[in-house]
Amino acid sequence: NYRCRSAFKLLEIDDKHKVLRPGLSVIDCGAAPGAWSQVAVQRVNALGTDPNAPVGFVLGVDLLHISPLEGAVFLPNADITDPVTLKKIQELLPTERADVILSDMAPNATGIRELDHQKLINLCLTLLDLSQSILRPRGIILCKFWDGREAHLLQNRLMEHFQDVRTIKPQSSRKESAEIYYLAKLYNHGVKHQKHR
Ligand code: SAM
Repeated sequence: NYRCRSAFKLLEIDDKHKVLRPGLSVIDCGAAPGAWSQVAVQRVNALGTDPNAPVGFVLGVDLLHISPLEGAVFLPNADITDPVTLKKIQELLPTERADVILSDMAPNATGIRELDHQKLINLCLTLLDLSQSILRPRGIILCKFWDGREAHLLQNRLMEHFQDVRTIKPQSSRKESAEIYYLAKLYNHGVKHQKHR
């Protein structure tokens, strides 16, 4: 039983694009009420349910309270853009850096589409900055955004830092919704890939 329908989006994306696997360490940004964390706990084997597979780790972060979930560590009442949150994440991570950063974050919508779009793009850009301190080389980011004119800014920034950037619109996402995900694989920390000319 999942806490929210959003679980099906992550299941669908993961089935197709293989983001999660046993043993990985995951940060779930905007985790409340916790459905993505439920999926992550299962798929990284955070509870050690499969004794023959490596045991992973899931850390969920949100502005809101999140009810406890077996196998996950939660950092509630925490703003991802606050430097204090970054410190706490680093303290809670068992490995120095995470393998995967998931973000289903969404700011409170004003209803003004252009403004909401900009706010979410800015939030994603901030998360990308944080990655430098919390994502391991060759790591993965999956982040939600609302489509609009500044999406290319985020896409360009991702392409500077990751070798493989894809745009994903899950079937289980409502058709009329403007939400889309970027899946960026193979993080190469600040190092921009030189193109041979
Ligand atoms: N993936 C979640 C699940 O499956 O249960 C649902 C996430 S919900 C669509 C978006 C969440 O992003 C909200 O709970 C909201 O509080 C959180 N959020 C928005 N801005 C945030 C920020 N700056 N820092 C942390 N969380 C944030």
